[in-house]
This record gives sequence, structure tokens and C-alpha cells, in this order.
Amino acid sequence: MFHGIARGELKAAREVGKAVGAREHRFVRLPDLKEAGDLGLRFAGLPATYIPMRNAVFYSFAASIAEETGASYIVGGHNKDDLRVFRDVGPTFFESLEATIRAGSDTLRQRRLKILRPLASRTKPEVIRLAASLGVPFRSTWSCHQDGIRHCWKCEGCLSRVRSFAEAGVTDPLSVSRTGEFSRRKA
Ligand SMILES: [Zn+2]
Repeated sequence: MFHGIARGELKAAREVGKAVGAREHRFVRLPDLKEAGDLGLRFAGLPATYIPMRNAVFYSFAASIAEETGASYIVGGHNKDDLRVFRDVGPTFFESLEATIRAGSDTLRQRRLKILRPLASRTKPEVIRLAASLGVPFRSTWSCHQDGIRHCWKCEGCLSRVRSFAEAGVTDPLSVSRTGEFSRRKA
């Protein structure tokens, strides 16, 4: 969401960055990049949260940081379900983007910069099962599209999270604590 700073998402990103021992965790601001819904636009077959040419912008920024910091890889977390909806997470887009980035920078061409998408062949439930096997701290993950400090459990991001955990057969610690909150309130 671009109505303001996504506080819950930023907090989750910081916690995950810490958990994986990131050497440097950089946050960039792109305030003029808006979701279609916020612009009052709808594109056929795409959700209101769609951002026109989102990944061309994000990955160009990442390539700039890669050139600056000496990185040889840019890693994206797109999954197979994303590919069904968004054109800019597909292999054609990334192959040509990788070629474009190498064409635009002698440094990145010599370094043979690669864009890696390790989750591209997995559905969301498969990603959750893999994450559970790797001990990913689910409590520090974020799925909500709203700008809150807790998941709203009503938006498409939250509903998709609930569906995917259920399908994966994995308990979501965030969802469990939510149930706890409700039952305490009723008692
Ligand atoms: Zn939500």
C-alpha cells in the first residue's frame, strides 16, 4: 500500500533481515510508484494492488545497488502463483532484463550479473512447506496489503495467506495468536 509507510511490512522486513544475518539491509523510497487502485485505474485481469511496470523499476534499482556494492546476484521471491497473474515475473521478462542490465553496465557484464528466482517453480503452499522445513520465522513474515502494525485478516493478501497455510498443512503462528486474541476477548 502506498497510502503511507507500511509499518508492519517494514518491521517484518527488518526482523527477517536480522534473522538471515544480512550484512547490509537497505530500504529505498519510491513514493511516486502507485498501485493501480490508488491511481483510480483497473487493468484487465489484474488486482487493484498491481503497480504498472513494478518489476522493471524494482530490478533496475536493485541493479544500480548491485553495481555499487559489488554484488553478482539479484534474487527475487516470485512464486508460480504470481506468474499466473503478472506478466513481469515471467522468464521472458527476466531473461531480457538480465541482458538489458548487462548491456547497460560494463561492470555488471564483466561480473556476469544474474537474476535468480529460486521460488519460481513453486506454488504458495509449496513455498510455505519449504519455509517450514528451513525454519523460517513465520512470525516475522508479512502478507497484509493494509498499512497496519498487525495483519487485518480481511484483505486479499491476508486471505491468500490463510488459504495457502491451510493447503500446505502448516500452522501459521500469526493466525494462531489471532485466534487466541479472539477467544480471550469472548471469555
Ligand atoms: Zn490484510
